[in-house]
Amino acid sequence: MTLVIYLEDMTLAIWALDTSWSLTYCPKTKIMPDAHVPVLHPATCLSSVAFKAKEGNHSHSTKTFDFLKAAIMEFQSKLPDLEVTIFSVMTQLAIEHGAINLSQGFPDFDTYPELISLVEKYMREGYNQYAPMQGVMALRERIAEKVYDMYGAQYDPATEITVTSGATESVFAAISAVVQKDDEVIIFEPAYDAYDPIVRLNGGIPVYVQLKFPDYNIDWNEVKNIVNRKTKLIILNYPHNPTGAVLSKEDISNLTEIVKDTNLFIVSDEAYEHVIFDGLQHESVSRYPQLARRSFVICSFGKTYHTTGWKIGYCLAPEPLSIELQKIHQFLTFASNTPIQLAYAEFMQNKDLYLGLPEFYQKKRDLFLNLTSQSRFNPLPCKGTYYQMLDYSPISNEPDFEFAERLTVEHGVAAIPPSALYHQKDDHKVLRFCFAKKSETLESATEKLCQV
Ligand code: GLN
Repeated sequence: MTLVIYLEDMTLAIWALDTSWSLTYCPKTKIMPDAHVPVLHPATCLSSVAFKAKEGNHSHSTKTFDFLKAAIMEFQSKLPDLEVTIFSVMTQLAIEHGAINLSQGFPDFDTYPELISLVEKYMREGYNQYAPMQGVMALRERIAEKVYDMYGAQYDPATEITVTSGATESVFAAISAVVQKDDEVIIFEPAYDAYDPIVRLNGGIPVYVQLKFPDYNIDWNEVKNIVNRKTKLIILNYPHNPTGAVLSKEDISNLTEIVKDTNLFIVSDEAYEHVIFDGLQHESVSRYPQLARRSFVICSFGKTYHTTGWKIGYCLAPEPLSIELQKIHQFLTFASNTPIQLAYAEFMQNKDLYLGLPEFYQKKRDLFLNLTSQSRFNPLPCKGTYYQMLDYSPISNEPDFEFAERLTVEHGVAAIPPSALYHQKDDHKVLRFCFAKKSETLESATEKLCQV
């Protein structure tokens, strides 16, 4: 039960959520919760207060609640079943137990000092006010050049590129721009945990397709069979978090076949576009005009420049789609950090850094694989992203969340249990490990893993 009770001046509120509850201090009436409401408990008092207040009979509550001119509002969560994101849960557990954190995906090494100097330079030069809503023009121009160089795709910096506060903001705005009540949205599982709630907040209906374990390939026949007149959107995420799968040319042609002659949109989360291995080419949806014309292609500076905490990403989309996306972006954050955008615009002229990222992370993947080769964990294929899935079935039969908890608490290494990324908590006895870490970190972590 959740209850909110307001004073007439709307300054006091009581929440009761299951068994935990709290009372905010009311500055106007100077009521201290502890002094005046000693017996409040959701299971007893709040429901009777609610009842009495609804009847308009306040006498019962006079003694304890005479300060409450109660207007009572039942609060209904829009996402009642949603838990705290697994990335925060595992990071918190790692901190509590002093474990090496290979769960949440972020580098433990620093970004480039020159990039930091550029941010400082722009701050000192006074670029500290709002950026244009669509993003700093210099940055949009550099993005357009990069995308043309890499994927041969032309996006107009004036109308088809939007800089947002992280790729996640782009994902939110893109899904919100197209999904209406009862629209079906195809989500491939395991899925980054933001997609499903964003779809549901917009009244959409997630339709899940499981990637085929253990290679995590898409069964395109299955996709073909579930697409119907109500299907509005397909959400892609390649290179794929958490599995490390990538899209092949064959995937692209299957997808193209399915969407042709439909009004389907695509949100393509390509946050790990530069983290792809073994000489493979990233099959950006932007390369393919038949797909690009219906797609929001979303990328992340955080993943590319080791700056996940700066929260800058961008979205490429044809003008009519960008217009709709910007209508939402302008009231989510309006604009993103100005000096950081200017710094990226200057810094990304050095193409070697992002072109060298596959090699940089492949070395880390290979080090991690090498160091775990003597362990009882078995690696699954990892063709991209900075995550490695390890099969722990030779070690334990425990559900993945329990095993991940025990690995953190007892062995000192935190990882992500992928069941949290399935709506039905599918459990394949694997864990996701982030290898975007210093060699020393990987060495210490794998030493522990080898003892499990
Ligand atoms: N994208 C990162 C990951 O997958 C971090 C996500 C988050 O912390 N919300 O781990």
